[in-house]
Amino acid sequence: MSTVSPEAAAASPERLRLTEIFLSLQGESRSIGWPTVFVRLTGCPLRCQYCDTAYAFHGGQWWDFDAILDEVARYGARHVCVTGGEPLAQKRCVELLRRLCDEGYEVSLETSGAIDIGAVDLRVSRVLDIKTPGSGEVERNLWSNLPLLTAHDQVKFVICSREDYEWAKGVVASQRLAETCDVLFSPSFSQVDPSALADWIVADRVPVRFQLQLHKILWNDEPGR
Ligand code: SF4
Repeated sequence: MSTVSPEAAAASPERLRLTEIFLSLQGESRSIGWPTVFVRLTGCPLRCQYCDTAYAFHGGQWWDFDAILDEVARYGARHVCVTGGEPLAQKRCVELLRRLCDEGYEVSLETSGAIDIGAVDLRVSRVLDIKTPGSGEVERNLWSNLPLLTAHDQVKFVICSREDYEWAKGVVASQRLAETCDVLFSPSFSQVDPSALADWIVADRVPVRFQLQLHKILWNDEPGR
């Protein structure tokens, strides 16, 4: 962790503000179940009504890249997930992602879908949220991100209601998302009955992967507990 002044730290090109680094099981996405080091960056410009990481909106500590890489290495896991908050809100995040890829990790990035992903290293699996109307942040979707997606990436919808489901189904069809990458439908915790969402997907033959957040099932909590 940095001991320099906040002004000097903010000016350095190789530092990021982090809320936490920890080892847990990946709770969602294609890498679900793998031991994963989570690097949680501080700050997010969105305010989704279901957000479970509001503690990452403020605070945190400045870390330089070498300290982050040393801490990640200490856990000895192959998978690293850079998350937030909204990690891309700190522009130097793309450099950290590149450094993690260079070290040989399987790197994923969880991003809100509200910030341009074009500068992110293509070795990173970008897990891009598309915010539904029920999130309260639908107007923040940056639709120009969608043509940048590859088969290595994933798109995630957090479904808050039947109306959200219908909206998301329409986006998947109109944007032909399932032809590009994995599309994940996840019920908003305590807002949609998971079995109801599963039934809707099966009944409509929607080409998406249903998923529950493993860490909520195991620990009823965040991945890091
Ligand atoms: S984008 Fe993510 S971190 Fe930001 S408010 Fe929404 S759920 Fe929370």
